[in-house]
Amino acid sequence: MNFDRFPLDPRVRAGVDAAGYTTPTPIQAKALTDALAGRDVLGLAQTGTGKTAAFALPLLDRLVHGPRGHVRALVVAPTRELAEQIHDEIKKLGARTNLRSATVYGGVSKGPQERALKGRAEIIVACPGRLLDHLTSGVGSLARVEVLVLDEADHMFDMGFLPDLRRIVKAVPKEAQRLLFSATMPKEVRHLVEDMLTDPLRVEIAHSAPASTIEHALYPVHADRKQDLLEHLLDRSEVRSALVFTRTKQRAKRLAQRLDRKGYQVAEIQGNLSQSRRQQSLEGFKSGKYDVLVATDIAARGIDVTRVSHVINFDVPDTVDAYTHRIGRTGRAERSGDAVTLVTTEDLRQVRAIERTLSM
Ligand code: ADP
Ligand code: MG
Repeated sequence: MNFDRFPLDPRVRAGVDAAGYTTPTPIQAKALTDALAGRDVLGLAQTGTGKTAAFALPLLDRLVHGPRGHVRALVVAPTRELAEQIHDEIKKLGARTNLRSATVYGGVSKGPQERALKGRAEIIVACPGRLLDHLTSGVGSLARVEVLVLDEADHMFDMGFLPDLRRIVKAVPKEAQRLLFSATMPKEVRHLVEDMLTDPLRVEIAHSAPASTIEHALYPVHADRKQDLLEHLLDRSEVRSALVFTRTKQRAKRLAQRLDRKGYQVAEIQGNLSQSRRQQSLEGFKSGKYDVLVATDIAARGIDVTRVSHVINFDVPDTVDAYTHRIGRTGRAERSGDAVTLVTTEDLRQVRAIERTLSM
């Protein structure tokens, strides 16, 4: 199957080709036809399944016809990194459309965002808090939005954004097309779906499969030997680039410092760092300047780093979903990768729960 079966505007289709996408991923295959026809969509799929293009293509296809100079599409995402990533994908897929995309999130200056909201951009990719700041102070309006996307709705709920999301949804015209994506469907998200979507197409990609190309390994270890074991793993030749997860920001920071002292090319990404430091870490890891990126769940969730060869759970994740999200970073788009989890005796119960749910 290829992208010819979808009635994409040639300018949008050119973006698909430029991105090098030849075969739609399962969620794209199932969602695109209806989404292009303007239907609301509820997409349930784990990270790494190609959700971004599943909403970006219909969004671009709709906007490519029609006026410029005011905000016509809004994508809401939980973190700045994700917003940047979505913005990049939209720019890539929309390179031939002349549509302008801009990001809106906290921690950076407001001026460019204000200009974007006042009409310098047709597409806004925003985190909820800063977007509402602007709207509350009278900057910009969502009254002419034609497409609204909520990405990683479950994550936004976890972060306490639900009231903000409701306000944002209210500010968008009822007739706008709405696309909502989530890896899981907790009851709060279900309510949001019921309030927000009209007769949606529901597309679900089975939860079980953290891509089948991923090999999972558990390494039993005493808590105070974790660091040694990690270094041993990082030294293996097949580990080209590793994303290492810790439970807390402090642990991420300390681990990154210790690895740095040992001479590893390491960066960290965690919530206590400034936006520009986080961006630097991510860019450096993407470009190959760093081989190891130490991260917390919140900071790394949804981030697409195609060159990750190994995900190492230095600390066992708290939930099965967190596990799925973490290892979604490797084996993406069907490249093979490895997931390694360091397990202490205290972790055994949690690890069994993960194994049961994912039937590993
Ligand atoms: P998700 O939002 O579901 O986590 P992404 O949209 O970030 O997934 O996509 C994951 C990766 O797969 C990205 O690197 C993206 O460029 C790539 N990708 C998406 N769609 C396709 C496709 N049809 N063919 C090849 N690669 C794709
Ligand atoms: Mg995504």
